[in-house]
Amino acid sequence: MTNKLQSLVYNKFSDYFNLPVKRLYFCALKKMDMTGNKMVNELNARFRNSSPEEVIGYFLKDFDGKMAFGTSLGAEDQVLIKMIADIDPDTFIFTLDTGRLFTETYSLISKTMKTYPVTIHVFFPDAEKVEKMVNEFGINLFYDSVEKRELCCNIRKVEPSKRAFSGVDAWICGIRRNQSVSRYATQVVEWDEQKNIIKVNPVYRWTEEQVWEYITKYNIPYNPLHDNGYPSISCQPCTRAIKPGEDVRAGRWWWEESEKKECGLHNHHGE
Ligand code: SF4
Repeated sequence: MTNKLQSLVYNKFSDYFNLPVKRLYFCALKKMDMTGNKMVNELNARFRNSSPEEVIGYFLKDFDGKMAFGTSLGAEDQVLIKMIADIDPDTFIFTLDTGRLFTETYSLISKTMKTYPVTIHVFFPDAEKVEKMVNEFGINLFYDSVEKRELCCNIRKVEPSKRAFSGVDAWICGIRRNQSVSRYATQVVEWDEQKNIIKVNPVYRWTEEQVWEYITKYNIPYNPLHDNGYPSISCQPCTRAIKPGEDVRAGRWWWEESEKKECGLHNHHGE
């Protein structure tokens, strides 16, 4: 019955699909606890061959005030910040300060905000939860087991991101297919089951070379650690430089198997 109702709502309005109708549809989906996969499939078909700027332009306009960009200040995210600043610098942009970031990352937050007319809102973990976790399991608990590493990522990243995503219907993300085996199935538009919102990956098909060509062309500020063998940067104790020929995410949680290397902010199903 519920699936039938969803289908009726969707079929009735999909031809018209203006913003208020989309909002109604999203509200209906959330209330009905559904995945929104049908809508995502339609958006994927529509934007499969679009440029990142076209994708960003569409979502920033049609999800005005309900769109977020979550940046980790990586090279891809710096590309996206420049594009977003060009299209709509008032876009809600946020990052997570886990308390364990590299000094270079903090400097880049500051430099980016001086370069572009954007505000990067910084979200912090709950201090009491961090204290309890550290005092119970140790300051570097993440090296002990996948479970403890995930606990740390949950407290320092996932929980603050939930606050950042409050009231958001869709988010822009800088992940690319060839960053790791766990990202090979990334689509331009995905349904984020954890957050129950749409996830947009404008540069999902870009190569690393394309990212750096764009950064060089537009003189975009980037993390100097990228020049020292760090293609993917997270917290300092969980990131090492990679060797030539290694996967670009091999330096993230390098002591774990590659299939488990996600912090809980991204979801893939190996489609
Ligand atoms: Fe904790 Fe490491 Fe995850 Fe950062 S990347 S939140 S330090 S486990």
